[in-house]
Amino acid sequence: MHDAAPGKSAARTRGETVADAGQRFADFLHRESKAAPAGNVFAPVITPTSVYALPGDPSGPHQYGRWSNPGWTALESALGALEDAGAVVFPSGMAAVSAVLAAALRPGDRLLLQSDGYGGTRAAAQKFLAPMGVHVDTCATVRIAEQPLESYRLVLVETPANPSLDLLDIGATARRVHAGGGILVVDNTLMTPLGQQPLDHGADAVLYADTKVINGHSDVVYGHVSTRDATLLGKVEEWRRIGGAIPGPFETWMVQRGLETLELRVERLQANALALAEALARHAAPLAVVYPGLAGHPAHELARAQMKGFGGLIGITLAGKAEAEAFIGECRFLRAQTSFGGVHSSAERRARWGDPVAEGFIRLAVGCEPTGALCAEIVRALDLTLARRRAPPAT
Ligand code: PLP
Repeated sequence: MHDAAPGKSAARTRGETVADAGQRFADFLHRESKAAPAGNVFAPVITPTSVYALPGDPSGPHQYGRWSNPGWTALESALGALEDAGAVVFPSGMAAVSAVLAAALRPGDRLLLQSDGYGGTRAAAQKFLAPMGVHVDTCATVRIAEQPLESYRLVLVETPANPSLDLLDIGATARRVHAGGGILVVDNTLMTPLGQQPLDHGADAVLYADTKVINGHSDVVYGHVSTRDATLLGKVEEWRRIGGAIPGPFETWMVQRGLETLELRVERLQANALALAEALARHAAPLAVVYPGLAGHPAHELARAQMKGFGGLIGITLAGKAEAEAFIGECRFLRAQTSFGGVHSSAERRARWGDPVAEGFIRLAVGCEPTGALCAEIVRALDLTLARRRAPPAT
């Protein structure tokens, strides 16, 4: 585990946040090179072990495989450096969510979640925490600004929310939650530390499904929590050590490897998403396109101030289930799958999971393909789909 760095957060402004992320990533890439003695390997090492040499009274950094692993330590120090914080890694994004909830909540506490955010987080709270006496409330992202927050011990938000892509002002929300003595946790899976630094805006902790953009290759399920609050960090780590939700050494190595190219991938997928959203918004057919990077998005100005880039998810709404499925099936460059943040673009109808969206709503998860080819193929598939709407095939 990486100790919480001294909090510089209070002194940072939004403008500084954006510059810092790039600097932090460059520092992360060159974190060890100069210090390495001749002959040292630069590549991260995989340590598959359940035991360590432990003579006499227990001491030393590694004592038992469920408590620590050199691979976790290396990855945690890299992930933590991206946010000037301490980090704890987990075997999935949901394990990271569960750790924060378990570390911070007690029976009788109140928890607020988004009704239009990631459904797994709501399911975990409602199925397991509510029966243990935690009061779980939900609220649509756009309503949180009007919701009294002072009574909540913990408010956990995603911004942009997924799949609604509505935004929340992190700084304003943090101030309101803190006024009542609670903490604000941000699920930053969609934006990554390179696109948004919630801790700099006043959030107490940030969590990630590294399964998505951070690993970026759609081949690992992983997660982590970062915070500058040493007490909270200690509790999250204790939850992992005692609760036993620990990541495997090989998966840890894969995430560390994926992380090295995060900046390149984020830049490309965000550029692709913006180009595609603009092409779809320009399309002749009346098409509801939701993307925080479009000037018409209700929170576009907030997105510009709070984020660097606008993420890789776009929402479009077609006429209904059949038309949406036909479009996804027609497009060569859209894999039908559930997830986002990989190299390959994908798409899915979110109503199939019960999300509160129209039957024809598609979440486009933009990947890292060459921009022109990707946009051209998606627009081609859309044109064909819409042409069929105007002239349905004869039966
Ligand atoms: N948070 C967000 C925003 C997600 O989209 C997901 C998964 O889709 C999770 C958390 C959970 O991550 P995992 O599937 O790695 O448990």
